[in-house]
Amino acid sequence: MGGTETDIPLLVDGKRNDGRTIDQMRPVKIEAGVLERADGSAYVELGETHAIAAVYGPKEMHPRHALIPNKGVLKVRYSMLPFSVGDRKRPGPDRRSREIAKVTREAFESVVLLDKYPRSAIEIDINIMQADAGTRVVGLTAASVALADAGIAMTDLISSCASGKIEDTVVLDLNGLEDNCGQADVPIAMTGKGEQIALMQMDGLMTKEELNQAMEYAVTGCKELHKAQVDALRRRYQ
Ligand code: ADP
Repeated sequence: MGGTETDIPLLVDGKRNDGRTIDQMRPVKIEAGVLERADGSAYVELGETHAIAAVYGPKEMHPRHALIPNKGVLKVRYSMLPFSVGDRKRPGPDRRSREIAKVTREAFESVVLLDKYPRSAIEIDINIMQADAGTRVVGLTAASVALADAGIAMTDLISSCASGKIEDTVVLDLNGLEDNCGQADVPIAMTGKGEQIALMQMDGLMTKEELNQAMEYAVTGCKELHKAQVDALRRRYQ
């Protein structure tokens, strides 16, 4: 969320710059099991934001001193590939990618049955191939399908999307321009069956009423994503 002033109108007669209505998500595409060499994988597109997630494990925990005797450890790596943004991004971890990896790990710790994997590690590798806002939510949605594809025991799938505020209006799923020029961004992650919130972040300012509306939109978006995740997994195992 950049909050930069712009001359480009973000909303004209209730339509957004990409033609969507205020409560419409970008087109979703999800595919499970896209990588031969990983234990589980998934590819997710949400409009122009594209992510691929790979899962390895459960495997032996390294370094040994970090292993937990009675449960498994989730390791998450999030990276934006150099060609995912307009100006080539310097490869390697930075503060933002560490923060996103941390919140992603915490969201999955609430659904993965870590007690089933003592002394082990489960590695989740999220790569953003193309970024147009919402990379953390698309990465999370992909990682959830990749975990299921790897056969990792979970209480539920996690689906994730964001709402935001542009020109004093709450909208679902900001695109890159809206994220740059908008007023607020609220990424959430929700469990599919339980409909419990596993992650919520907020950038910018909203009134309580706006935040309620944003939550309502994001919950609807997560439900749509959950259906697409289940469909992708069904197609994979048919
Ligand atoms: P998210 O991608 O989850 O919305 P941010 O709010 O941090 O996370 O980033 C918003 C958007 O800003 C990204 O999706 C991407 O389009 C853009 N962005 C982030 N980091 C960079 C970068 N280093 N270079 C260019 N664009 C970036």
